[in-house]
Amino acid sequence: MREVLLKCFKCHKEYPSSDMRYVSTNILCCKNCLDRGASISPSPKESLKSSEPKVNKTEYQCRKCKYTFKSNTVSNTCPYCGKRDTLVVLKSVPASNLIAESSNKAYDW
Ligand SMILES: [Zn+2]
Ligand SMILES: [Zn+2]
Repeated sequence: MREVLLKCFKCHKEYPSSDMRYVSTNILCCKNCLDRGASISPSPKESLKSSEPKVNKTEYQCRKCKYTFKSNTVSNTCPYCGKRDTLVVLKSVPASNLIAESSNKAYDW
C-alpha cells in the first residue's frame, strides 16, 4: 500500500501525508518547513475595517436658553444663542437609537 505524497506549498517537495500539516484550508506545509518556522500564512488576512465607526452622539442642553441638541463633536458653544460654556451634557445617545423616538403614539391633542 503506497502512501500518498502531498506537495508542500513552501518548498514544493512531496512528502507522505503523515508529514504534512494543514496550515490553512487546502494549504499543506511539510514538517520541515514548519520546524524552520516558515511563515505559515501565505496571505495574511486584512482585518475588515468598518468604514463608518459607530459614533455616539451626545445630547447637550444650553443652560442659558434651554436649547437642546445632539452632536457627535465636543462643543462648548450653544448653536442657538451663541453663548459659550453654557452647555451641559444630558446623555450620550447611541447612534442607532436616534430614530426610535418618533414612534410614540401617546400624543393625541
Ligand atoms: Zn516544505
Ligand atoms: Zn443657548
